[in-house]
Amino acid sequence: MPDELLDRLRRFTTDAFPLQRSLFKHLVDDGQHPTTLFIGCSDSRLVPYLLTGAGPGELFLVRNVGAFVPPYDQSQGFHGTAAAIEFAVLNLQVKRIVVCGHSHCGAIRALYGEVPPAAQYLARWLDLGREAALPVAEPGPEVLRRTEQRAIVLQLERLMAYPMVRDRADAGALTLHGWHYVIEDGEIHVFDVGVGQFVPASQADNAGTGPYQRFTEADALDYSGVPMVDDSHG
Ligand SMILES: [Zn+2]
Repeated sequence: MPDELLDRLRRFTTDAFPLQRSLFKHLVDDGQHPTTLFIGCSDSRLVPYLLTGAGPGELFLVRNVGAFVPPYDQSQGFHGTAAAIEFAVLNLQVKRIVVCGHSHCGAIRALYGEVPPAAQYLARWLDLGREAALPVAEPGPEVLRRTEQRAIVLQLERLMAYPMVRDRADAGALTLHGWHYVIEDGEIHVFDVGVGQFVPASQADNAGTGPYQRFTEADALDYSGVPMVDDSHG
């Protein structure tokens, strides 16, 4: 029986790898020096290398359901995403952190529905997005999109509670970027904290404003401009 996955592995070694052999040798000899920590949803339609044109060695990737950032609470446990953030900032000293959500995100939709009873880790994990959900029972496309965007801003806020992130951002050595990838349009919308909105990359004059301005207590209540409710028409 043909094993298609095995065929693909062999083709990588014979076809793809030789084209980048010297690059990989360089990355082995000199080590990796990625400048960007990319925290993206695990969704199979989100392809960071395609979106950014990055090659090997450029992106330090963290993928999880919803592109969520756990709170920095130093509680006991296995926090893969938090560990990756610490490693990227403290060891690799990345210059940028991108949080990338997307349209038609199953994690965001799940905030308005049920998850299978057996999916207890998933149910708990989705708590990291609940603050972004709007008070509607049957979310339409516009509500879902706004929830996706609000969730991205929420994760940026959480990132700023990581001491090593805050310190480097305050020092101007690290910028944070919120991206919302609209799959059907093939376009990223970048969060501009100045206007408090996501702006299509085609119309933006930056890749997301940074260093990210920390919210004050009062600002945090309205997600710095990402409109809160008023979704009666949505
Ligand atoms: Zn998703």
